[in-house]
Amino acid sequence: MVVYLKSAPTKLFTDSAQSDVAERVKSIIATIREDGDDAVRRYSQQFDSWSPEAFRLDDAHIEAIMASLDPQVIADIEFVQKQVSAFAQAQRDSLVDIEVETLPGVFLGQKHVPVQAVGAYIPGGKYPLTASAHMTIITAKIAGVPRVVACTPPIRGEIPAATVAAMKLAGADEIYVLGGVQAVTAMAVGTETMQPVNMIAGPGNAYVAEAKRQLFGEVGIDLFAGPTEIMIVADGEADPFLTAVDLLSQAEHGPESPAVLITTSQTLGEQVMAHIEQLLPSMSTRDYAEPAWRDWGQVIVVDDIDEAYALADSFAFEHVQIFTEEPRLALAKMHDYGALFLGENTCVSYGDKVIGTNHVLPTLGAARYTGGLWVGKYLRTVTYQQITDPASSGMLGEVCGRAARVELFEGHARSGDARAWIHNGRTFPW
Ligand code: NAD
Repeated sequence: MVVYLKSAPTKLFTDSAQSDVAERVKSIIATIREDGDDAVRRYSQQFDSWSPEAFRLDDAHIEAIMASLDPQVIADIEFVQKQVSAFAQAQRDSLVDIEVETLPGVFLGQKHVPVQAVGAYIPGGKYPLTASAHMTIITAKIAGVPRVVACTPPIRGEIPAATVAAMKLAGADEIYVLGGVQAVTAMAVGTETMQPVNMIAGPGNAYVAEAKRQLFGEVGIDLFAGPTEIMIVADGEADPFLTAVDLLSQAEHGPESPAVLITTSQTLGEQVMAHIEQLLPSMSTRDYAEPAWRDWGQVIVVDDIDEAYALADSFAFEHVQIFTEEPRLALAKMHDYGALFLGENTCVSYGDKVIGTNHVLPTLGAARYTGGLWVGKYLRTVTYQQITDPASSGMLGEVCGRAARVELFEGHARSGDARAWIHNGRTFPW
């Protein structure tokens, strides 16, 4: 039986709110296609009150920004980037190129080739999301992407210094202080001052996610990584205080970020709700966390842990923390999630900020069909073939001629016939 101690809508946006976002994004993209840099500047002024002489930072400016930072900030960025690099490199190493001989002298191969130019969007409207720079840029560089363009918005009219440092240390080739749809569109379609890229990566708000959706096809995208989501699956032994703290850690991302507890213990559910009421007033980010919790927070009590896992799967949430006696069981029981955090010693905040797995993860149910950002997203798996044995070519030519005529493809059939006849020393009848 499922009991809702606190329920909320499971659909994030109303259709009309979603279509307002879609209409606005469509119009911004169309105008930037038409007016290029002028339109980019107008929208940056309109949405971010930001119109510097140049959106792109030159090397001297970047150096000055980095020098202005507390050395501990730089040291921490370097520490985290080391963790992100280590895991991304292990992922890259797991992708091996293959070549097999399927018939005598018939070689079929597969290689992983990096996308040649990527636009990395580093969000920053509400908070300077420094860690997103590690996630998007380092991963691209380890995949071997030669040109990484990185954009981040100003935050309340200022350049986000730590984010710029992280972008530089991660290896971005071009750094722009530019946000939202105007940044994503400029990178995707190009302007007088920005060469277009082949693929856009990185998280963002509903406008950024919608811009990626509308530009997909013209450019590649990594995935839809919109407003963040947290779920905790807990049994009666879980710590209610930690559970409450962790739920609020993601609710603070924005008023549209859902935080959901699924538990086998009604007592735990009630304790967590009480802790959240105690914790909210002391949060400096209460303006985001409180509406997120009030409007989208849920506490659901189920009969047993298997029911908890099945229900958790049906949400296909971005982040799922497992606070149960045997947290690793979730690896076998669950299938639909962006990332799992096993046990109380870790949490989504570690994934977001320090531990090294990628924090760009699917939202709004996209976890049903994709995982998060990783080196593989920046690589194209391409194939090649070669036949070194003419006899095999002749044999395949005969089959090709017959198979293609079944499909009424005369041109394809002749490519096969020609090779079969060359091998057999026959002359062409046509
Ligand atoms: P953002 O950089 O995504 O968006 C800021 C930009 O939005 C501004 O530069 C502005 O140009 C544009 N904008 C704001 N209001 C607009 C309007 N009315 N019309 C058109 N454009 C408008 O930063 P944010 O807003 O702080 O959002 C960051 C989001 O990224 C959060 O929702 C967070 O949860 C999400 N996030 C997701 C993941 C993930 O992997 N899923 C990871 C990190 C962050």
